[in-house]
Amino acid sequence: MNPRVLLAVVVGVIGIAPMVAPAFYVTLLNYIGLYSLVALGLVLLTGVAGQTSFGQAAFVGLGAYTTAVLTTQYGMSPWFTLAIALAITLAVGYLLGIITLSMGGHYLPLATIAWGISLYFLMGTIESFGGFTGITGIPAVTLFGFKLEKEGEFYYFIWFVVLAALWCIANLLDSRPGRAIRALKQGSTMVEAFGIHPGRTKTVAFVIAALLACLSGWLYAHLQRFVNPTPFGINQGIEYLFMAVVGGAVSVWGAVLGAALVTLLKTWLQDLLPKLIGEAGQFEIIVFGVLLVLLLQYARDGLLPYLQRFVPLPPRKLPSAGDRLPHRTPPAEGISVLDEKEARKTFGGLVAVNDVTFNVGSHEVVGLIGPNGAGKSTCFNLISGALEASGGSIKFMGTEITSKTATEIAKLGLGRTFQHVKLVGTMTVVENVALGAYLRGSKGVIASALRLNTADEAAALAEAMRQLERVGLAEHAHDAANSLPLGKQRIVEIARALAADPILLLLDEPAAGLRYAEKQQLASLIKSLKREGMTVLLVEHDMDFVMGLVDRLVVLNFGQKLSEGLPENVQADPAVREAYLGA
Ligand code: ADP
Ligand code: MG
Repeated sequence: MNPRVLLAVVVGVIGIAPMVAPAFYVTLLNYIGLYSLVALGLVLLTGVAGQTSFGQAAFVGLGAYTTAVLTTQYGMSPWFTLAIALAITLAVGYLLGIITLSMGGHYLPLATIAWGISLYFLMGTIESFGGFTGITGIPAVTLFGFKLEKEGEFYYFIWFVVLAALWCIANLLDSRPGRAIRALKQGSTMVEAFGIHPGRTKTVAFVIAALLACLSGWLYAHLQRFVNPTPFGINQGIEYLFMAVVGGAVSVWGAVLGAALVTLLKTWLQDLLPKLIGEAGQFEIIVFGVLLVLLLQYARDGLLPYLQRFVPLPPRKLPSAGDRLPHRTPPAEGISVLDEKEARKTFGGLVAVNDVTFNVGSHEVVGLIGPNGAGKSTCFNLISGALEASGGSIKFMGTEITSKTATEIAKLGLGRTFQHVKLVGTMTVVENVALGAYLRGSKGVIASALRLNTADEAAALAEAMRQLERVGLAEHAHDAANSLPLGKQRIVEIARALAADPILLLLDEPAAGLRYAEKQQLASLIKSLKREGMTVLLVEHDMDFVMGLVDRLVVLNFGQKLSEGLPENVQADPAVREAYLGA
């Protein structure tokens, strides 16, 4: 089925449901809508960004209680309290995120559990919040002078908000900041090399998820017109996580699917099981748990991928042109691009890079060679900022970069590839390459969510296509990156590095895994880059590959510089023959 037709059918069903469905199901659909909003946040945070939060129910509670207290006790308008609730959530989410997310590991899940439990008891203990009995008499929301008092009326309001949120998050995921969020699971080394700050990007995802939960809570309070702490406890927090996982993160619709499935399943089990096995005990919770375990056993990525097989997405149309992104003028000939003096890196007692000195001039192609374990990749990582040097000095275009972060160095004009390929496997090839152009775009989360980024996007994707054509992989633009053979994935990494418009291109064993003809193509690509004014530092293992290609060679052995000079001189150097070729 065509996805547009399917979307129209879904929206149509949502539109007529309250007119034909029994009241009980309208109530249920209202809840599914509210849960979908929370699950949508978790699809983004957990499914896409790989961060787990057990505390979403507490953000729902924050939204509900803020409006409950402020409307009933201070007579504020619900629209005003919505702004206040979102502002509080923004502050709390930002603080929790910035403190825990840069620490990585289990800090976020633990912090969200602590946050969930403490807010729950806070709501229950504070006198003016009505304790565990809660707050009644919350006013209805007035929309364009129309009071939304009936469930069937509020239904349309909820589902309008849900569809709008789905649209915004889908837009976001398909944009410059969205690609950064989707790349987070690849680890921080890769994203930092393209100027993306992983801690900040995760915090953005966490704050968006918290805001969606808060919005759901605000809606809940004005639907129920009554709140107590029960629906905002840690149990509900876990259930929200189930919804996101059951639905799956391949598309934002996973949130709606997960919310609907979990809600309907629980309701039916609660109805059915007492009839089957008697009234004693809460069997539905056990059966529910078993069903979920089974489901996750057979559908790791949730249920949506199964359904999506029936709705094959047509390949996305790429903008044929687009404004050109800003472009650096390459440095003039004879300028020192890279100047490394006595760079040193130790890992405990091991000296991986031992006071290595060499330089690379503009428009030069320099090969860094040496046997396995010689320290080439480590040397590389010192230059790109992926590792911090233990000593010495490294200058890039005259700027001292020894203690700069990878992101700062990327901004100065350094592009790199990785020895162990780091592409986002589930993203298409062209999206991966567009990730390289991250620093050349500027549109942020809000502009992207509202689709105010079309010119920026067109330029980024057009640039990515240009780079793919340059490396000869244009026909694979729409393939998932992990469907390509490893050799081609290395070339995609080169295109991604080129999309950053670097002055200096660092390539770590780009020819590994390539066939002979592919190596020839790669060599001619590097030669043509040089003609266009690119400076290249190339780590290579394969002596034959570099001989006809580079202007100069630097040889490392056991972390030390063994030899340096023109390829033929280096090749003839007896020390090199013994250490490298003899081996
Ligand atoms: P090459 O790229 O020349 O094959 P590397 O730079 O990867 O060599 O490694 C140089 C030496 O440093 C090796 O002995 C390797 O085991 C060691 N090494 C590299 N990275 C680390 C690390 N993160 N921790 C400890 N030792 C490391
Ligand atoms: Mg290496």
